[in-house]
Amino acid sequence: MTETLTQSAVPAGPRARWTYLDKILSRPGPFTDPDAFVPGTIESVERAKILVIGAGGLGCEILKNLALSGFKDIHVIDMDTIDVSNLNRQFLFRAADVGSYKAEVAARFVEKRVKGVKITPYCGKIQDKDEEYYMQFAMIVCGLDSIEARRWINATLVGMVDGENPDSLKPLIDGGTEGFKGQARVILPTMTSCIECQLDMHAPRAAVPLCTLATIPRQPQHCIEWAHIIAWEEHRKDITLDTDDPEHITWLYTQALARAQEFNIPGVTYAMTQGVVKNIIPAIASTNAIVAAACCNEAFKLSSNANPFLGYPGTPNYMMYTGDESVYTYTFEHQKKDDCPVCGADTVARPIEIPANATLRDFVDLLAERPEAQLKKPSIRTGEKSLYIQSLADLERQTRGNLDKEMSDLVEEGEEMVVTDKAFPTQFKYKAVFSK
Ligand SMILES: [Zn+2]
Repeated sequence: MTETLTQSAVPAGPRARWTYLDKILSRPGPFTDPDAFVPGTIESVERAKILVIGAGGLGCEILKNLALSGFKDIHVIDMDTIDVSNLNRQFLFRAADVGSYKAEVAARFVEKRVKGVKITPYCGKIQDKDEEYYMQFAMIVCGLDSIEARRWINATLVGMVDGENPDSLKPLIDGGTEGFKGQARVILPTMTSCIECQLDMHAPRAAVPLCTLATIPRQPQHCIEWAHIIAWEEHRKDITLDTDDPEHITWLYTQALARAQEFNIPGVTYAMTQGVVKNIIPAIASTNAIVAAACCNEAFKLSSNANPFLGYPGTPNYMMYTGDESVYTYTFEHQKKDDCPVCGADTVARPIEIPANATLRDFVDLLAERPEAQLKKPSIRTGEKSLYIQSLADLERQTRGNLDKEMSDLVEEGEEMVVTDKAFPTQFKYKAVFSK
């Protein structure tokens, strides 16, 4: 079709801007079931109440794309305020917005730009909201940079599913980026593999065990974390660390560099110190655009049934994108795990290998380090006793003495341990397996 012909087919009036969208939705496509085809499904997109979690790099793109895809009732949650360093890619924000809440500014901007769209912001944490709140949405799109927040919403949505009520199943579309890499995935809670099933796809970043930091660092990042967590506490306890203060970063850099030289580890730089301490994930605008676009097309297909969507049970549910070595994308089906602590059968305890002479303290470090656990503040119980409880200060004091005891004195081979962490509504069950 030539440009002139297309142009002449565009009707005038307020509907004109949606001409192309209407075309997709008013004609049967190659995958449409001819018996089930109902023209005009644009209403199902317009009516769908959709929640976006995160109004940052991915969130700005997602809000813009959803609004321009015909969604009209969009909600957005973000607890952050706008920082001047966001302005290069978070294009809904201007210099004058620095310090304001991202969710509010983003909502106002998109509402002004796309007429007829209503965006309801909430400035706060996703954990502030209860199941009743999440129940009102048709689906949820996540553009987060935190694994912890993803695990929380995933567990909440899995917990909400009621077999008697099909509306309680809320599709979760999750986008994530790190530098030139990213992923888009769709989760149908309880039906397909969930974020917890896929946890080992994300190597833990910040969770370096304390014992590694204190004894034998292996990487430049370990030396920086040592300066950050141990040296600062030792020498500058009375000063609150401000990661935006160049003097503070310089002090940490000098300390980290000295430690790195002691252990013959090259690579500690000022920029790396800043990155590790501020836990910055390098953000690239175009990677965000690619991943957000993939997520929004899935949201559109899910609500309109225009085409088969990613995550339809038994089909691929995970799209990975890497742009750091040329360009490569791969879409595959990530399988549900029977022993998943969130969506698996709840009686199953996962075997966890514990080194022969490991103390409880080593085990706590292990839970932070293991890709499939990534629990930073675990409390550990057996059927008989509390091994270590961090959730209450009193209990922490009472159980602290166990930290130096060997695991083999505290639990039997094959004994079940229940691990909880305040960050998650999940009970994690592990079965002790001692390595010989
Ligand atoms: Zn799962």
